[in-house]
Amino acid sequence: MNSTEKKDIRSLTKESLQDFFVSMGEKPFRGNQVYEWLWKKSAYDFDSMTNLSKPVRELLEKHFVINHIRVDQFQKSADGTLKNAVKLHDGLVVESVLIPTETRTTACVSSQVGCSLDCKFCATAKLKRMRNLNPDEIFDQVVTIDRQSKLYHGRPLSNIVFMGMGEPLMNYNNVLKAIEKITSPEGLGMSPKRITLSTSGVPKMIKKLADDGAKFKLAVSLHAALDDVRTSIMPFNETFPLAELRESLQYWYQMTKSKITFEYIVWKGINDQPKDVDALVRFCKSVSCKVNLIEYNSIGDSHFQQAENSALESYQKALAKIGVVAKVRHSRGKDIDAACGQLANKS
Ligand code: SAH
Repeated sequence: MNSTEKKDIRSLTKESLQDFFVSMGEKPFRGNQVYEWLWKKSAYDFDSMTNLSKPVRELLEKHFVINHIRVDQFQKSADGTLKNAVKLHDGLVVESVLIPTETRTTACVSSQVGCSLDCKFCATAKLKRMRNLNPDEIFDQVVTIDRQSKLYHGRPLSNIVFMGMGEPLMNYNNVLKAIEKITSPEGLGMSPKRITLSTSGVPKMIKKLADDGAKFKLAVSLHAALDDVRTSIMPFNETFPLAELRESLQYWYQMTKSKITFEYIVWKGINDQPKDVDALVRFCKSVSCKVNLIEYNSIGDSHFQQAENSALESYQKALAKIGVVAKVRHSRGKDIDAACGQLANKS
């Protein structure tokens, strides 16, 4: 059996690991031990599983591989942000980022290699979607960043955002499996309240998340509350128009009672007029939410330019009137292309 035929051991459930050992004439609890090494102790290889005998480790070696991610390149921004170029077992690369602030350290992780959506202002969109990440590849990014956080900032990771490459709701099962591992006591034991999934807005999947009892937070990259404007910058809005998105968000809130965060960039000449502000106010009236006005990070297309501050203030004032908080968020890690929308495997 060569390594390409061997199965990735982390695609097995605990039960199937136990079954494997039984079929090999071993005790089922070996499965629990291995499971703990894989998910709790993040072992990179079988040799490090020191409570297993040599023959048992060789047995595992013979049948399985551990397709752990490898940090291929690593950059540090002047503001402390770290960006990893992460190599997957098949040679493809994704990026993940550690963003430290005074009160938190946040991991920004990728869910796909490239992205299937075509947001005109996002660097990742230029890569197209190459494939979905497996649950363990998502989990590994978190483990890696947690280690870096301890090493460089002396504290463990406090938050996770699915705001790296890809559209998490287009890789639904794997993202949910990864979150399950991240939150499970058998994995990292992190509270789901510290995890935010950001989506461009896939209504059917937002409803499914609510039905599946998601306990994490939801953010939606809205950027425009008028269909024609949104479709011009996020073409899939044609397929999933705002009315459908709104309805799915109302459903999400009804089921989870968890407020939605809208991510919103204001661009000159695109969505900086009173009609755009009015539309967002109307949209926010119908959905329990807060708004993050995020700074645009240029990706070299002159069509998109950050709007004047006065436009941001108009949004903030109008939203405040209906009791919706809108904060301006400045990007981190711009000098190393680690900021929102800049992840494109440049290096
Ligand atoms: N596909 C998901 C996850 C990616 S998150 C989503 O769209 O939510 C990446 C976030 O960065 C999104 O809010 C996206 O709209 C935003 N973004 C994309 N390009 C950007 C840019 N050039 N400057 C600032 N933010 C950008």
